[in-house]
Amino acid sequence: MQIEKEKQQLNNDYQNLLQYRGMTEEELKKLMKEIGEPQFRASQLFLWLQNKGVENWDEMRNIPHSCCQKLAERGDIFAPKVITRQESAAHDTVKVLLEFPDGERIETVLMLYHRGESRDRATVCVSTQSGCVMGCSFCVTATVGKGRNLSTAEIVSQVLVMEKEAQKLGFDGVTNIVYMGMGEPALNLENVWKSLQLFNHEKGLNIGMRRMTVSTCGIVPAIYEMAAWNKQVGLAISLHAPDDALREKIMPVARKYKLKELLEAAEHYYKTTGQEITYEYAMFRGINDSQSQAHALGKLLSGKPALVNLIPANLGGAAGFLPSLVETITDFKRILTSYGIEVALREPRGVDIDAACGQLRRR
Ligand code: SF4
Repeated sequence: MQIEKEKQQLNNDYQNLLQYRGMTEEELKKLMKEIGEPQFRASQLFLWLQNKGVENWDEMRNIPHSCCQKLAERGDIFAPKVITRQESAAHDTVKVLLEFPDGERIETVLMLYHRGESRDRATVCVSTQSGCVMGCSFCVTATVGKGRNLSTAEIVSQVLVMEKEAQKLGFDGVTNIVYMGMGEPALNLENVWKSLQLFNHEKGLNIGMRRMTVSTCGIVPAIYEMAAWNKQVGLAISLHAPDDALREKIMPVARKYKLKELLEAAEHYYKTTGQEITYEYAMFRGINDSQSQAHALGKLLSGKPALVNLIPANLGGAAGFLPSLVETITDFKRILTSYGIEVALREPRGVDIDAACGQLRRR
């Protein structure tokens, strides 16, 4: 696998046009200077774009028409077209299919959690690519082809669409973001990093770094690159197997990056950021869910700052990958816990609208 070559091929020319939704306040200030506008206009524009999520120049009431006109000549606010919207029967999951100006389509999911006394949670699962080259054999996204990298504006706009959806359903807005939708974030790290900073900005959605998690299927150099950000962004590693042999069979990335170096990178991430690592483990019947595999995983992660997220696989997933039985998952969890490992069982969400893990695709 030639990661660098793939990365270069995944960008698209149309993204070189100015997309204001993906620009930092500093970049907007530079632009205002170039077009002869005062610096404070950049802060006003940033607020409209990142906090209010406006989609038309007319809505920016404190920015003069002449300034909007100059900006419109040079670039685009950037708002994707919502092609379809689906809401689960339980009204706790919303999935949208978005289309970008070059016709590429992606899916984004919003999951809502009412928490009684504590703060409600509204989590968006964003896509970072319109397909995926990583070829994990259990994943539906892998079947749609390689697609391309999404720009910063394309990532940010997914969350802004869902901010409005969350508000429509009675929530204050988005509280958490997980980079676990379509694509491998590690192949689009520059735009992932820029979007994290925009979401975190106090004039934007002001979402704490600790409330955002970036996942990777195990691209080791990207984990070191993320550690160098030195922010408390969550890191999730898709493990799905307790040994290299099985991992290589179901995740081609494991042929390049072995478990030993992957766990070393995770350790480095923990030491640099203080953030515990989440290991995602989707449970497939008869493939990775035996008691001996639970013991192997327990030994592998014992003593490490790890949270294992057991994900019951979905019936609508890739062919040949059936969900584990409930008793099997319970036993697996019990064995892992006996090694002193913290284990969470992910609540299946949005299965009735194909919005669960590994079910996203462009349609
Ligand atoms: S699981 Fe993630 S990395 Fe693997 S093919 Fe699917 S989208 Fe790509």
